[in-house]
Amino acid sequence: MWALRGLRNGVLTTRWPASPDAYTAATRGAVTVLPGPAADTIDGTEASALCPAGAIRAGLAGTVRVDQGGCIMCGRCVTARPDVFGWSAGPGSPSLSRQGLVVPAAETAESLAEVTSRLRARTRALRRSVHLRHVDAGSDGSEEWEIMALLNPVYDIHRLGMFFTASPRHADILLVTGAGARGMAEPLRETYQAMPDPKVVIAVGTDAVTGGLARGSYATSGGIGGILPVDVWLPGSPPSPFAILSALLLAVDRLPGQRAATAAGHGVAGDPR
Ligand code: SF4
Repeated sequence: MWALRGLRNGVLTTRWPASPDAYTAATRGAVTVLPGPAADTIDGTEASALCPAGAIRAGLAGTVRVDQGGCIMCGRCVTARPDVFGWSAGPGSPSLSRQGLVVPAAETAESLAEVTSRLRARTRALRRSVHLRHVDAGSDGSEEWEIMALLNPVYDIHRLGMFFTASPRHADILLVTGAGARGMAEPLRETYQAMPDPKVVIAVGTDAVTGGLARGSYATSGGIGGILPVDVWLPGSPPSPFAILSALLLAVDRLPGQRAATAAGHGVAGDPR
């Protein structure tokens, strides 16, 4: 029966990123600011009232920006001001810099090129096959479901030469979820130190990037950036399996057309954290 069912269903495994997959485009991405003059009508008071996570900033000149690293994807801003905010489509927006998660884009092409070449130099040896270690540093469990999905027949990360390992001593990439619970700071550091060089750290999900709704809590570090040197920042609450895949491919320089849009963006001053 299972053999017949398999024959009837055919191969379900996505071929992305080697070939386009319509499902990636259907995936809801992070909130973005839509182009147009309506954005100038939002002031700081409305921005604070709209966003429970404090991810929307409005400058004195009326310039509104969204820090995707703080967005919990509740959708309140999109519902209240569809003329200003919208969902981006596609497999998510991993960034090699924290600043790169602020939209309209906060990075210059020069700063992006510099951080990219530094990571490329370190990860050249990892492009064909990598082992992943996952650590939960205070997650609500949602990111873990998406990470587990990478192993199912649809995403099947083994086809990309990526494998999970139980030991940090065999790991090349550390996937960290959760808001950076203070009790997990030391285990996280020990895991990182046990990994051989070269190694890469990916902050998976809004909680790992900024702490999400737990930002400012006594119990967390407001994300893992203060605990470990993060190489790839992946927003989303939770990020989809395609988004996690794109962060992994970005880390090892195998993501087609990565963050080209960021390099073409506008500058913004200040640390978004
Ligand atoms: S969707 Fe994101 S940016 Fe919009 S209100 Fe919710 S948390 Fe804030």
